This record gives sequence, structure tokens and C-alpha cells, in this order.
Amino acid sequence: PLQPADIDPRKRRRFSTPGNPSLNGPQSQCIQAQRAGLPIAMGKDALIEEIRKNDVSILVGETGSGKTTQVPQYLLDSGLAGQGMIAITQPRKVAATSLAARVATEQNVSVGALVGYSVRFDEASSDETRIKYVTDGMLVRELLGDPLLSRYSVVIVDEAHERTLRTDLLITNLKDIQRKRNLPSDAKGKGSVAKLNPLKIVIMSATLDADKFSNFFGGARVTYIQGRQYPVTIYHTTVSQPDYVEAAMRTFWQIHMDQPPGDVLIFLPGQEDIEGVDRSIKLFADRSPRELPSIVVCPMYAALPSSQQAKIFTPAPPGFRKCILATNIAETSITIPGIKYVIDTGKCKEKRYVARDSGTGFDTLLTRDITKSSAMQRAGRAGREGEGFCFRLYTEEAFDAMRESAEPEIRRCSLTSSMLQLRCLDQDLEELDFMDKPDQEAIGAALKTLYLLGALDRKRNLTKLGRDMAMFPLEPNLARAVVASREFGCTLEILDIVSVLSASSKPFFDSSDEREAASEIRRKFRHRSGDHMTMLNVMRSYQEIAASEKKSGRKDWCRKQFLNERCLAEAQEIRDQLREVCSRMQIDWHASCGEDEQPVLKCLVRGLVQHAAYLQPDGSYKQLMGPSIVKIHPSSSLCDKKVAAIIYDELVYTTHIYARGVSAVPRGYIAEVPILNIKGT
Ligand code: ADP
Ligand code: MG
Repeated sequence: PLQPADIDPRKRRRFSTPGNPSLNGPQSQCIQAQRAGLPIAMGKDALIEEIRKNDVSILVGETGSGKTTQVPQYLLDSGLAGQGMIAITQPRKVAATSLAARVATEQNVSVGALVGYSVRFDEASSDETRIKYVTDGMLVRELLGDPLLSRYSVVIVDEAHERTLRTDLLITNLKDIQRKRNLPSDAKGKGSVAKLNPLKIVIMSATLDADKFSNFFGGARVTYIQGRQYPVTIYHTTVSQPDYVEAAMRTFWQIHMDQPPGDVLIFLPGQEDIEGVDRSIKLFADRSPRELPSIVVCPMYAALPSSQQAKIFTPAPPGFRKCILATNIAETSITIPGIKYVIDTGKCKEKRYVARDSGTGFDTLLTRDITKSSAMQRAGRAGREGEGFCFRLYTEEAFDAMRESAEPEIRRCSLTSSMLQLRCLDQDLEELDFMDKPDQEAIGAALKTLYLLGALDRKRNLTKLGRDMAMFPLEPNLARAVVASREFGCTLEILDIVSVLSASSKPFFDSSDEREAASEIRRKFRHRSGDHMTMLNVMRSYQEIAASEKKSGRKDWCRKQFLNERCLAEAQEIRDQLREVCSRMQIDWHASCGEDEQPVLKCLVRGLVQHAAYLQPDGSYKQLMGPSIVKIHPSSSLCDKKVAAIIYDELVYTTHIYARGVSAVPRGYIAEVPILNIKGT
């Protein structure tokens, strides 16, 4: 069977330490007392009994009741998991890793021993691991190598109400897997299936949409867990606040000046707003009266490296007030101690796929109003440890007008990557039994993309190429470029570029006040063909520095070049993982084309064929496979050049439609793409 690409058993981190000895003392007793005091602990035996009796259990409970941390431990202690592993899925990486750390502490072991985690590009587990916190995407990926998830005897789908695309895919598959694994033994017939132990499914959710899950599983039992929430006083504004950033700042200072100690959590839609507020608070804090407590500001968003995300869990020093600036990443799953005040701007960013008649489409990330369910969750963050306060920067009428809960991702996200994975499992997206069916247009767009990438043939069958692409934990278009590099002998270069593109932040810092200085310094990295080769030059230089300098030296160098060290360090880790995948697939990752950029561009064209545009007589560019006229983004090194054809990483919608991450390519390279040749386009 296939090995799931991200999990190489040989490279799994080994942990043999029997735990942290200091935790055997009073601290450990304190943690055990805390566990016993959780609301869920009271109903522990009944809960275990419920799960023992039923194949599928649905568990609903307020946040903080102890679902995520305790249920896996209960199942392990009670022997319900038998010899198999318990998987608990989370929609986000940071939740999976931080929860594994917490539960490892509760079990008095190191992370990666009895309790581990597995997320994209990072894993801590061993042969001892029995409880594993995983992202929903990772478990879907594991299906590729182990379609019946035979290593697991219990799969707990946590935060199911968030209805991410991966969670929905997983739930659909789990239903089928359970049916196959739980057949009575005489019906199983011969073969490996007969040896499998049955699968238990536990669906956990914080909100009360349990009926939908219950119906999907043929009327599964729902168990409610009483939470323990202190009262939270909620304030709404009397008039709406068009400038939510300014309103958030004002509210923060009012709290800071007038209210008793307690940390503040501000919900903002995205990274840019967070960085802006971070700067202003620090600026004002320097000038604020001495008698006020000092402030520690902690940003929290998905693109922040996990080491920095972890800072929000550290208590502020005595006499300080902590102010956390977070996106909806802090809305559920994680526990942040110390929060007494929540400021809720009422905004979030939502990913939405726009399907086009032409069959192509694109992802957008738009700021929009949150849902009622989010608003309740956000307020709830203030009442974890005592009485709390929530300041909503919108009116009560605006709250009433909010949607109840967000639309499931399967109805609004690109399906390309999922469709490829499902085809590898011999499944058809159109035919699967989903809680909510995906949109026909989105299915059409995904089919077209996979066809253009050569992953599916005209009859929609998976090709060898498609199977190879699915081995990489990458977006299909980037995976296509990597697979193409085998043919063109430039895997070394392509992996560097693809790694930077897959990192969670961008390599270049572009604060407006330093733009000119930055561009001057970075001139030496520039490549005439555009941004991809420029990025390769950056990665090459960084790798030289990284080989000779210590961490501080690397940071220093990056700062001087106006480069984002965080992105480059992450890219290097991703690159190493991708090299391993290549080795396993017998792709020689050392293969290099040296200084010749042509092979690299040819590979990129294979992956970005849907992102190609031709120069028009008026100097603009027209999409090859779409109706739009695009301009080259001002941040691009090609921004004021005119070239016959471009390929780009993504479109950005502002005053114009901009192409970002652009390279100039000869038109002939695009015409060479095999699929286009067949159709004679
Ligand atoms: P639920 O999943 O029901 O929201 P959790 O199991 O995540 O609840 O957490 C239950 C409780 O365990 C929290 O309210 C908190 O008291 C404690 N807890 C969880 N994680 C941590 C942590 N990282 N640090 C300190 N306490 C924690
Ligand atoms: Mg939870």
C-alpha cells in the first residue's frame, strides 16, 4: 500500500524519556485535582458506558468542560481502545500541538511518547503512542496509506461544528470505514478485514447542532455535558463602528485605565489588523502615565510560528496586563488562562471559492461579519476562570441580524486537492454521502483543474501522474511542478521555490515606510525572469548563511536584507520533508539545472498553467483560461515590465485584479503543456 507522504516511519521522532520527573511532585497532584474538578469528570463513568454501548456517540458540551483533553484519557484508562490508538482531530495545527502538550503533562509523559501529535510538516509520535492529536487534514491523508485506518480503534472528531472541508471528508469516510470494520465476523469473509477490531466514532462539538450529526449517523445518541461558565456581562455599542480597529483601540485603553486587573483578548479579522494594533498599543504604552500597569502584547494568528503562538499561554509577569490580539484561531479549542475582558470587533476573514463559468475559479479571503455562534464563543472566552466582560463593537441589532453559524467549507472552498485525494481512494466526490453536498460548479472547476494538471484523464480516471502528485502534502498545482522537475532535471531548484510558496508567511517584509530601502537592498536577489527565480536566489543565499551562521546570525542577516526569517526557516523545514518524499518516490532531489532558469520555468508552467496570461496591445494581461484582465502586482520585480506571457501564483483583488508572484515565460512553454496540445488550444 501507499505510504502517506508526510509520515515516514523512519523519520518519526523517538522519545524514550519516561516523563518529566519534576511532575511527580506537588505540581502533578495539583493537575490531577484540577482534572477531577472538571465538569466532565462528574459524569465520567456514564460517559464511558455510553461510548462502550454505541458505535457512534455525539458529545455536546460547553468549551472548558473537559471534552478535548479528558475524553481520550478516559477511553484509554477504561481499556475501551483495546490495543489500538485513539485519534482526536482538530481543525488547526496549533490546537493539535498545544493539546498534545497539555495531555502529555496530565499523563506525566513527554510529548511523542504515550501522547503525541501529527500535523502537516511536523509529527511527534512513537511506537508507544496511544493518544494522538491530529489535524483533520492529516487523518484524511493517512487514508491514502491505510484506507480503513486500521491503526486506530477510536477516532474522535473534535470541533465538528466548524465543518471544515477535511472534517466533512473524514466524517463521510468514517461512516463507511465503520460499516466495513464492524461487520459481524461471519460476514467479513476471509482476508485482512476479518482481523480488524471494530471502530468507535465520537463526534464532539461545542454548539447545539447535534441533530444534524445524529441524523447523518442514523440517529446516533447525543450526550450533553454541562459546562462551568462564570457569568459574562455583554455590552453592545449604541451605534455601529465603521472603523473597528480604532474602536478596538479605544475600548482597550478604557479597560486598561478604568478596570481592575485581568487580561484582555481582542478578536480582529486578520494579520494586518493585528500587526497595526500591536504597533499602536506599544506606541501608546510608551507614553502612558507611569502609575498604569505595563502591557504585554501577544499576537496570535495562523501564520505566526508555533513558538510565538505558544507565548499567549505564558502568564504575564506580576503587575503586567496581557493583551492578546487574535483572529478566530483563538475562538475555540484552546484554553488561554487569565482572560477577563474580551473585545469583539465582530469581524473575521472567510475563505470563499468563486467558481467561474469557464470552469476555473479562485479562492478569496474576505473580511465579513461573524456568526452568532462565533460571537457566543468569543464572549465565552471571558468567563473561564471567573466573572468576565465582553465588549462587542457592534449593536444589538447587528447581533440579531447575524447568521446562526457559518456555511460549511465544502460549500464554499476549492475542492481540487480533496478531489485528488478521493480519486486516490477510488472515490467520487459527486457520489459520496456528505452531510452537505458540494456545489456542482465547484466540482466542475476541480475536475477541470485536475485534468489540466494531468492528474485525471478525459474519462476522469486517476493517472499515474495524479497518483504521484497526491504523494506530496502540497496544493496540486505545486505538486505538479515538483513531479515535472523529474523530467526537467531541476528538482533541487523546484523544491526550494515550492517550499517558500508553501510556508505560512511571505518571504519579503513590505512595511510601507521602508519599501524603497528594502527594494534597494534586495536588488541583488533579482532575477530577470521574475519572482520565482528571485525567490530561489533568496533561498540559496539564506541556505548559505544558515549553513555557516548560528540562529542569531541568520536573524541578523535577514533583518539587514528585509527578509522574513520565519518564512525562510519554515521553508527550509518544508524543503527537507519534501526531499524525503522525493527519496521515497525515487525522485533524485539533488538533480539541479545550475544557473539555467529555463527548466525551472517549464516546470512551473506545468503547475501554473491555469494561472497564465498573455500581454495585450494595451499593455495589460489577459488570462489564458479566464475572462479577467490582470495587472502585475506592484510588489513584483516585473511590475513595470512588458513581457509576452506571464504565469503567477495568485490573484489579489483590490482596486484592480493583480497577479502576484509573477514570472515571465516564453509563450511556447505554455503551448507545450501536453493537455493543451491535445486540444490544439
Ligand atoms: P473542552 O474541550 O470541553 O473545551 P478542554 O478539555 O480543552 O475543554 O479543557 C478543559 C480544561 O482543562 C480547561 O478549562 C482548563 O481548565 C484546562 N486546560 C486545558 N488546557 C490547558 C492548558 N494548556 N493549560 C492549563 N489548563 C488547561
Ligand atoms: Mg475542546
